Amino acid sequence: MTELKGVGIGLGVAQGPVARMADPLPAPKDTSSELSADEETSRVKEAVSAVARELESRGERAGGAARDVLEAQAMMVEDPTLEEEVNARIAAGKTGEFAVHDAFASFRETLTAMGGYLGERAADLDDVAQRVIAHLRGLPAPGVPDPGHPFILVAKDLAPADTALLDLDKVLGLVTSDGGPTSHTAILAREKSIVAVVGVAGAESLSDGQEIIVDAAGGLVAVDPTQEELDAAAKRAAERAAAAAAPITPGALADGTAVPLLANLGKPSAAAEAVELGAEGVGLFRTEFIFLSSTDAPSVEEQREQYIELLKAFPGKKVVARVLDAGADKPLAFVNDAHEDNPALGLRGLRALQANEQILRDQLTALSEANTQTEAELWVMAPMVSTVAEAEYFVRIAKEYDLPVAGVMVEVPSSALLAERILEVSDFASIGTNDLTQYTLAADRLLGSVASFQDPWHPAVLRLIREVGAAGEKLGKPVGICGEAAADPLLAVVLVGLGATSLSMAPTALADVRATLLTYTADDARRIAHAALTAGDATGARTAAQQAATREKETQS
Ligand code: PEP
Ligand code: MG
Repeated sequence: MTELKGVGIGLGVAQGPVARMADPLPAPKDTSSELSADEETSRVKEAVSAVARELESRGERAGGAARDVLEAQAMMVEDPTLEEEVNARIAAGKTGEFAVHDAFASFRETLTAMGGYLGERAADLDDVAQRVIAHLRGLPAPGVPDPGHPFILVAKDLAPADTALLDLDKVLGLVTSDGGPTSHTAILAREKSIVAVVGVAGAESLSDGQEIIVDAAGGLVAVDPTQEELDAAAKRAAERAAAAAAPITPGALADGTAVPLLANLGKPSAAAEAVELGAEGVGLFRTEFIFLSSTDAPSVEEQREQYIELLKAFPGKKVVARVLDAGADKPLAFVNDAHEDNPALGLRGLRALQANEQILRDQLTALSEANTQTEAELWVMAPMVSTVAEAEYFVRIAKEYDLPVAGVMVEVPSSALLAERILEVSDFASIGTNDLTQYTLAADRLLGSVASFQDPWHPAVLRLIREVGAAGEKLGKPVGICGEAAADPLLAVVLVGLGATSLSMAPTALADVRATLLTYTADDARRIAHAALTAGDATGARTAAQQAATREKETQS
C-alpha cells in the first residue's frame, strides 16, 4: 500500500474505486480571428451570459453556501473590467476563445498575487474561463465523470459549479491535487460533509478503477489498501455514522463534566444549521467574513442588522463575536491596504484596529446595540492579541460600550506564555489553534509546502495550550478553543485535559466530538493529555494519546 498526504477536510473516511475528472480543455491558440471584431464580441457576450445563467441556475438548485459561491462566480464572469479586457484583445484581432483565455489568465495572476482568501478564489476563474471557451466551441463544459457506479472523485481541483451539484449517492469521497484548506472545494466539501482530502501530492498518479481509502481525519489517501485496512476504514465509517445518528445532548464527559459545544460561524445565515446540529451557542463569530469584499468600512447600521440576525438565532445562549480580524489570510482593504512583505507578522488583528480606532468603536457600537435588542448572551473578543497592554486596551474599550464580557484570543505564543497576566485583565480567553500553530511552528497556514508543520498535535502547541488552561483554572476564568483543533475528536479530549472549558468548531464536526467526549472522564482526559504532552513531535503525540485512550477504555471495561 502507498500513502499520499494532503489536507483532510472534516473527519470522515471513505473507500472505493477512483474515477478521474476529465483533463481541462487545451488552451486556445493565439491565432487571428476570421470574424469581424463585432461578430467575435457578440459571440463572447452570448457565451458569457449563457455561462452566468447556467452558474446561477446551478446555484439555485444547490442552495446554501453553494448558491453564494456560484452567484459570486456568475458575477465574476460578467465583471465589466474583464469584459473590457476581453474586448481589447478582440479589437486587436484575436479570436473570442483566445481573448477569453488570455484576459482571464491575466486577471487570475492579479488575484494570485493578492494571496490569502482572494488568491484561493483565483482557481475559480479557470473554471469560469473553461466554461465560456467550451460554450464558444460548442462543447460540453468539463465536468464530473459518471462511471455508472459509486466512486471516489479524483481531480486537479474541483470547480464550485461541480462541487455544488455532486451526486452524493455516487461520489463517495473526493481527492484533489490542488487546493488548500480554505479553497472553495474545501469549503463546499465541508458544508456537504463530503469526505475529502485536498492538496494531495501525487494524486495525478491515481488511475481510474484503482481502489483507495480517503482518510480525512488523517489527511491521507491509502492506495491499493489491504483487506485489513479496508475493514478498519469501514469500522471507522460505521462509528461515525453511529455518532451522527446519536441523540443530540449537551456536550459532556463520561462523568457528567459539562463541556459546551459551540459553533464557529462566518455569517448569520449559517446559524440555523448550527442549531440543528446541536450547537449550544457560538464560540467564534468571524465578523470579518461578512466584509471581506467591502472596500469601505461597514456602517454601524449595516453591522447591527447582521449581528441582530445572528443573535436572534441563539436566545439565552452564549455568542462570542470576534471583532474584525483583518490581515494575512483575511485581508480587509478598509482596515489596512499597505503592502507588507510578511502580512501574517504585520499590522493585523487588534493591532490594525488599534491603529484605526474608529472602526473598532463603530463595531462595538453595532454589537452593543444588537445586544440590547436581542436575548442572546453576547461576549466579545479581540483577535491576535500579543501583549498584556493590548488585552487591557480591548477590555477597557469594550466595557465603554456596555459589553459586559470581554476577552481575548490566544493565537500568539507570547499571549499563551503570559496567559495568567492576560487573564487577570480579561474575562476569558479563547485559543485560536490555527494561528497558534502557525506562529509556534513558524509555518504559514496557507502554504501547502509547509502544511505538514501545521499540526496542532505538536507538543509545543499543546504545552502553550496547557499554560492557558492552567491560568484559567487558577483564576476561575473560562478558556475556550475555537481553532480547527477542537474538531478533531481525540484532540478535543486532549484539549479538555489541558484545561479547555468549552470547544467551538465547524458545526458538521459537533456529532463526532460529542460522541467521543462522552466516552472519557475528566481524569481520563488529563491522563491522555499528559501522554500527548510528553511526546517529541506531532505524530508521537497523536500516537501516545491514541495509546493512552485505548488504555483508558480497557480499564473502563
Ligand atoms: C485561529 O486562528 O485558530 C482562529 C480560530 O481564527 P481564524 O482561523 O479565523 O484565524
Ligand atoms: Mg486566527
